[in-house]
Amino acid sequence: RVIAFRQAVGSHGGLARLYATGSVPTQKLFINGKFVESKSKKLIDLHNPATNEVISRIPESTPDEMEAAVSAAKTAFQQWSQSTVLTRQQCMLKLQSLIKDNLKDLAKNITLEQGKTLVDAEGDVMRGLQVVEHCCSITSLQLGDTMHNVSKDMDLLSFRTPLGVCAGITPFNFPAMIPLWMFPVAVVCGNTMVLKPSERDPGATMMLMELLKESGIPDGVVNVIHGRHDAVNFICDHPDIQAISFVGSDQAGQYIYERGSKGGKRVQSNMGAKNHGVIMPDANKENALNQLVGAAFGAAGQRCMALSTAVFVGESKQWIPELIERAKKLKVNEGTQPGADLGPLISPQAKERVLELVQSGVDEGAELLLDGRDLVVQGYEKGNFVGPTVLHHVKPSMKCYTEEIFGPVLVSMEVDTVEEAIEVINKNPYGNGTAIFTTNGATARKFTMDADVGQIGVNVPIPVPLPMFSFTGSRGSFRGDSNFYGKGGINFYTQLKTVTQMWREDDVTSTKPATAFPV
Ligand code: NAD
Repeated sequence: RVIAFRQAVGSHGGLARLYATGSVPTQKLFINGKFVESKSKKLIDLHNPATNEVISRIPESTPDEMEAAVSAAKTAFQQWSQSTVLTRQQCMLKLQSLIKDNLKDLAKNITLEQGKTLVDAEGDVMRGLQVVEHCCSITSLQLGDTMHNVSKDMDLLSFRTPLGVCAGITPFNFPAMIPLWMFPVAVVCGNTMVLKPSERDPGATMMLMELLKESGIPDGVVNVIHGRHDAVNFICDHPDIQAISFVGSDQAGQYIYERGSKGGKRVQSNMGAKNHGVIMPDANKENALNQLVGAAFGAAGQRCMALSTAVFVGESKQWIPELIERAKKLKVNEGTQPGADLGPLISPQAKERVLELVQSGVDEGAELLLDGRDLVVQGYEKGNFVGPTVLHHVKPSMKCYTEEIFGPVLVSMEVDTVEEAIEVINKNPYGNGTAIFTTNGATARKFTMDADVGQIGVNVPIPVPLPMFSFTGSRGSFRGDSNFYGKGGINFYTQLKTVTQMWREDDVTSTKPATAFPV
């Protein structure tokens, strides 16, 4: 069952595959266009979450290796920042076609390292691919503005110029999509990058680097280091790194936002969430329940946009037994198994934490309507599986509500009106996403106006915007002021420069110095 995926050094012509059974490969670094062995003695075991077998080892990059990555990115920036917009566009066109061609292999690696089902893993790659596709429009995305004759013979122009070396730090739950939120946008704007993928599943990032190499993007433009806190601190403090993109938990995100900003860097930080799904009694029951179940338990709840809290308004509470029936029917299994709806959690520790949070809900008085804690998957008895679990009559003070569970657990509550539902949502510190299920336009409009959440779905459970828009989580779910991808992404990775210029044919010069502020 263990098939490890490794990069062959300097390979050409598609993804080089080296399947090893028995031996455990060590992941490489990607520095200056080469896959290199780390000299590090500190290795992190990477387990298949469905079996807990060690499938690869991730080296914690040494200070010299991290320095080499930044240095390669700094050197590459000199040429890459001067490349034409058409060159960068061509590279993106090539990259998107390579990702499409290798989508299934990328997905297989994601299922192996992260655990999600194959079909879900393909979605992970697809949503990242859409960002690359959007980057192919850089010829219009990076346009500046011009205004001529702002004064006599005077014109105003603006440009969007690259920043320099940028860094990306990514979480485990979307091993392809989130790196693809970062490096294509940074690179297409003329920047270079050092990426530090999650140490729990960096395989997809490494495969993307093979494709990047094949796309014609020059050596050194993107580099990959591995590690944990030391690598993060190195990025936050390095004087040659201009900007940091982070996606992950609150604890790491706030720390990186503060430490990076203190060092004068631009930082965008997408963090945790608690997303509410509001079910109105006038909703299309079939649609609402299916959407809610899919969004609560899909990817074993390990999505920052999972609908992890259900708010039943008025008589919609009558539908709870049907919700439980649908949740019970979901198949929990290893991700490549036919019919699997959800796979394992990322680690035994993550499973332990989820079980503790469920127990805390029971201890604090919530009603356990569906208990997936004792689930065992045949043939995968050592995997980190938890079945769909539903806690009802949850109160906002309970720990299972105040904490992001990040597992296949739906907490649910009842309220009488949409206003009460909005009040619950607005009192929650997070603002990543929310959804309402209703057939009433006025209710939907009120909800979209009054819910203080950055991404709202109306009869859409996971409202993650496509890349012509940006990912706009708000309040406790975001730090920074330019969002990921879309216009926000272009703004983040560029400096707006304005030029005020005067050119006169008759060369009439001023007769004396003007000390008043020019108008
Ligand atoms: P994580 O914070 O544990 O890890 C993210 C990255 O930060 C990793 O590269 C890791 O090595 C590093 N890191 C971890 N702890 C650190 C620390 N204390 N100091 C410095 N660096 C640290 O997150 P995760 O468990 O990999 O991902 C799950 C979290 O990410 C959830 O909270 C989820 O909501 C969030 N997430 C948010 C979004 C979003 O767009 N808002 C998207 C995906 C995931």
